[in-house]
Amino acid sequence: MDKLIPFLDLKRENERYGDEIKEAVNRVIDSGWYILGKEKEQFEKAFAGYCGTQFCVGVGNGLDAIRLILMAYMEQGIMQDGDEIILPANSFIATALAVTQCKLKPIFADCDPVTYNIAPSSIRERITPKTRAIIAVHLYGQIAPMDELNDIAKEYNLRLIEDAAQAHGAVYKDRKAGNLADAAAFSFYPVKNLGGLGDAGAITTNNKGLAHTIQSLSNYGSVEKYIHQYKGMNSRLDEIQAAILSVKLKYLDEENKQRQQIASLYSEKIKNKHIILPQIKDINSHVFHLYVIRTKQRDILQKFLMDNGVQTQIHYPVTIHKQKAYIDSSHVNLPVCERLQNEVLSLPLYPSLTKNEIEKVIDLLNSWTL
Ligand SMILES: *Cc1c(COP(=O)(O)O)cnc(C)c1O
Repeated sequence: MDKLIPFLDLKRENERYGDEIKEAVNRVIDSGWYILGKEKEQFEKAFAGYCGTQFCVGVGNGLDAIRLILMAYMEQGIMQDGDEIILPANSFIATALAVTQCKLKPIFADCDPVTYNIAPSSIRERITPKTRAIIAVHLYGQIAPMDELNDIAKEYNLRLIEDAAQAHGAVYKDRKAGNLADAAAFSFYPVKNLGGLGDAGAITTNNKGLAHTIQSLSNYGSVEKYIHQYKGMNSRLDEIQAAILSVKLKYLDEENKQRQQIASLYSEKIKNKHIILPQIKDINSHVFHLYVIRTKQRDILQKFLMDNGVQTQIHYPVTIHKQKAYIDSSHVNLPVCERLQNEVLSLPLYPSLTKNEIEKVIDLLNSWTL
C-alpha cells in the first residue's frame, strides 16, 4: 500500500524554511537575550503592518490573547464579573475558556448552516442588558460576517472581538483579519496558517489605550520594572518564537495562496452526491486553515479514507456547550451546531501536499459509495 497521507506534516512544512529558521534561532541563542527583546518588538511591528493595524502585542498563546483582551476591558471598567459574552458554540474550546477564566459568562450562539460562522440572527436573540461583547471566530479560515456583526455591536454598544486563530492573512473586502473589529486575538500554535515551533500568540488593535493595558497585563501588570498597576499574568512572546515567526511571516501570503489552490482543486474535482463541499462567500475571505466537508455518514467515510491511507480529523466532534466542562450550558438548543458536529470532516490541506497526494484524496472521495 502507498504511504499514509498524514492529516498534517509539520516536519515537511517547516523543512522548507529550515536554514532560515535555524539561522534565526541561532541568532537569538548567541544574543544572550531571550525574553522581551528586539525580536519580539520587530515581529510585533511586522505583524501589525501585515494586518494593517497600529498595534500588535505578542503573547504566550492564543488562549491568553483572547483572555488578555477581556482582562484589559475589565481593567477599563467596560466589563465586570458575571457580564455576558456571546460566542459561537462550534469553535475550539479556547474561545469559551478565555471568557470563563475572566469570570465572564459565555452565551453560546448558533452558526450559519452554509458558512458555519456565527449567525447574526442567533446573536440578536441572545442580547440582554448584561451583554458586553461578541467574539467572532473566523472558523476554518473564512471571515465571519463582520459588517453585520459591527452593525449589531454599534446598535447595542458592544465590543466586537475577533478570534482570528484560524485566519491569518484572510481578507474581508479590503481589510485583513485582525483589523476588522475592536481587537483581535491570534494563535501561532504550530498547526496554524502562521505557526511557530512552540506556543505563541498576539493581539492586534487600533486602540492605543487597550494595547498598552494588554502589554502591561501580559507582563505581570507592570508599566515599569517592579511597579505593578494591575494584577497581571505572565504571557509573553519569547525571542526564539518571535524570530521564527518573523521568518515565516514573509511566506504567509504565498502559503495561503497554495492553500487556496489546493482547495480549488478539491472543490472542482470532488464529485459525490453524499458529500457537501465548503461554500465560500468570497474566495478572498477564506485562507483554508481547514478544508471541511460534510456527510451524513461521516464516521464511515473517515474509516474508509483511513483504510485507504488518508488521515482526516474532525473539527469539532463535540460543540463547546455539549462538553462536560460546560455542562451548565448543555440545555441550550443550537440545532445547526449540533447537527454539524456529526457531519463535518477535515481533509488534509497544507502547502507541501503533493499533486499525487491531492489526486489520491480526490479519487478516493469520488469512488466512495454507501
Ligand atoms: C488554536 C485556537 C485557539 C487557541 O490557540 P492556542 O495558541 O492553542 O492557545 C483559539 N481559538 C481558535 C479558534 C483556535 O483555533
